[in-house]
Amino acid sequence: MAVTTTNIQIEVGRVPMGKGPNWAFLLAHGGAGPQDPSGGMIEQAEKRVATVLNQAGAGIPSDIPSVLKLSWQQATPLERLVMNGTRELEADPLFNAGLGASLQGDGQARLSASFMESQRQKFSAVMNVTNIVHACDLAWALQEQRHCVLDGMGSDDLKRRLGIPATSPVTKDRLAKWISYKRRELAAQADSSGKTGTVGVIGLSGSNHLAASTSTGGVGNEAPGRVGDSPTIAGNYCSKQVAISCTGLGEQIIAFALAPRLALGVESGKTLESVMTKSMELADQRGYSFAAIAIASDPAAGVLEWAAGSVNCRLVWSKIEKCL
Ligand code: ASP
Repeated sequence: MAVTTTNIQIEVGRVPMGKGPNWAFLLAHGGAGPQDPSGGMIEQAEKRVATVLNQAGAGIPSDIPSVLKLSWQQATPLERLVMNGTRELEADPLFNAGLGASLQGDGQARLSASFMESQRQKFSAVMNVTNIVHACDLAWALQEQRHCVLDGMGSDDLKRRLGIPATSPVTKDRLAKWISYKRRELAAQADSSGKTGTVGVIGLSGSNHLAASTSTGGVGNEAPGRVGDSPTIAGNYCSKQVAISCTGLGEQIIAFALAPRLALGVESGKTLESVMTKSMELADQRGYSFAAIAIASDPAAGVLEWAAGSVNCRLVWSKIEKCL
């Protein structure tokens, strides 16, 4: 742990690179919740994120839309690892992404997801797509398209064009919670109380390929159509030097430009540890509540630096080094 104050937690580490093309280092998060969680939910989510990272492989999932098979075959092992990790977390109702995502103020689940990797450096995202579990499949599909960020209408249309069958991500549990919020007329967001949220997976391979993927159901009970940070470069970013995924209050992450701020700091020669620490200190002064995972690659020095940082919230995260 590099920094621990009442409000800020930052863990960092350095790992030697150059362990062959089949080597990869991955970090994943399962969202951020209250600093003093109750009920063992955080521990359960943390274990699940660790298991997903441990089991994630570079194969092609059997339930991938057939139209996406070719792009999966052509993808690098790192891209497949990051996508497989994201899809597994989306499929678990424990997290606020994919199945079991939060419902917006009108009771509809609208999902957002984004993807970026270091070779093409193309950011692609869908915002507020309905009736789908793996929103990350759409963000991934947009890597091949000229217009790579789509709103809800465009994303729903893309889903149909790709032949992805309509599947409701709404679970009984989320619906019951939404009804109870409405009954209590809770105007503000409250779906994070003791819950974990958004998911994100980032990675670096032995051939110095970086990738970042983030998927979310939003903050819960929000204005229909609200867009947070996850389908924007504020919440998910990748360059030839860094991969970053953020979680927490999207409006604050966007206003703070969290991922670009971390990326520019590293790219201007600072250590990830110092950039993460400075950013979280400044965010604390502003009373913000969010978190990020990041990997910075330094092939010349033969090391990567990783960091998991949070301010005024508790981040659920895990890391792994693996050989494929
Ligand atoms: N950042 C997400 C959003 O604002 C929510 C989260 O990470 O929990 O939509």
